[in-house]
Amino acid sequence: MDQKQFEVLRAEIEDYVRGPAEEFGEEIEKTHLVPRRLWEDLSSRGYLRLAAPKEYGGMGIALTRYVDLLEIFSMAHASIRMIVHVSNGIWRAIDRFATAEQRDMFVKPQVNGDIRVAFTLTEPTAGTGADIRTSVVRRGDTYFLSGEKHLITFGVNCDYWLLFARLERTIGQDGVVALMVDRNSPGVTVNSMPDSMGVRGTDHAHLIFDGTPVPIANRLGDEGQGLEVAFSGFLTPSRICVAMSCVGLARRAQELAVEHAKKRHTFGKPLASRQSIAFALAENATDIEAARQLVKYAASRFEEGDQLDTMYASMAKLNAVDMLTRVTDKALQIHGGIGYWEPNPIERIYRDARAQRFEEGTNEVQKALVSRAILTNVDQ
Ligand SMILES: Cc1cc2nc3c(=O)[nH]c(=O)nc-3n(C[C@H](O)[C@H](O)[C@H](O)COP(=O)(O)OP(=O)(O)OC[C@H]3O[C@@H](n4cnc5c(N)ncnc54)[C@H](O)[C@@H]3O)c2cc1C
Repeated sequence: MDQKQFEVLRAEIEDYVRGPAEEFGEEIEKTHLVPRRLWEDLSSRGYLRLAAPKEYGGMGIALTRYVDLLEIFSMAHASIRMIVHVSNGIWRAIDRFATAEQRDMFVKPQVNGDIRVAFTLTEPTAGTGADIRTSVVRRGDTYFLSGEKHLITFGVNCDYWLLFARLERTIGQDGVVALMVDRNSPGVTVNSMPDSMGVRGTDHAHLIFDGTPVPIANRLGDEGQGLEVAFSGFLTPSRICVAMSCVGLARRAQELAVEHAKKRHTFGKPLASRQSIAFALAENATDIEAARQLVKYAASRFEEGDQLDTMYASMAKLNAVDMLTRVTDKALQIHGGIGYWEPNPIERIYRDARAQRFEEGTNEVQKALVSRAILTNVDQ
């Protein structure tokens, strides 16, 4: 795609976000449900296969350009951003260790919107990562899966769970397997999680597995490579994308704050004429631009295969999420008390923003990764 075509696409997405996506967002806030036709609409416009390679049916847009588009999508309702982000990214996790057959069975159908895949790692009784307890026993060509997962985005309405479990009686990273588990397998109880604070409408699952059979052919990579499937190759670009989501959401909060500050008059003058308000807007603008540039730098490091790309991705995410907290707080404050009430869009944005602190690793996780890189690379 040349620059001109890219600009046309970007303008088209901006029109979509400011038009139909706003209407979808209002509907989701009222019903707390993502309508099926939203998925269909996004898919038919090609917005769910922007970043995947052309040979898989995607548009092949490189990460450094894709993040510009994601910034715009992130100005919309968080559930819309979530659909776009997950659909454009999860193929990477499956693809890295997939065999040719698995690529045909899972990766290409996911890119083309024929199947939905939910990333299924977090557990209610264990830490996220090498601590996981959900386990499998192997009998012949089948694993039997038992354990519990929760907070799984799209985990109710999906076709496969990309699920991480361990071979029974292993500990740590060893023995972790990545499995494509059919959503309609026997021996699974699928519960919808109750409503969350933000990101309304997106379904989240609580899953209980009790001897669920999974064919060994559905394992990605070898036994013991499960956490590599989960974390390497996938998480770095995904963190960069989540960081850009923060930029997009902060940009929308700032737009609303600017509009409100110009419109609302107190004591005979618009809020925008007060230095304290104008300075808050200036701080926000600076914060957003700085975060955007670090995200773009991290994306360029990833694309160029920099050995420290993981560190830059964590820096970008850590910085962007803290920026988003500051910006949405000031934007809400500028709105005054009415901003705290539904259906004021800043009320929703403030709630949606908080979820970003958990996605693709908390701040503590990002700091652990950055500090490890600093301490093992003397040049930093
Ligand atoms: C909206 C939303 C969508 C989500 N979607 C998915 C999904 O699709 N798939 C999925 O698998 N998960 C999903 N999650 C879960 C998310 O990835 C986790 O919430 C996140 O990784 C934190 O894990 P936890 O909730 O188990 O927190 P805990 O591990 O219980 O941690 C609690 C707090 O302690 C800190 N902490 C934990 N361990 C340590 C340590 N060793 N040292 C220092 N600090 C520590 C954490 O950073 C955190 O602040 C989602 C969460 C949200 C909010």
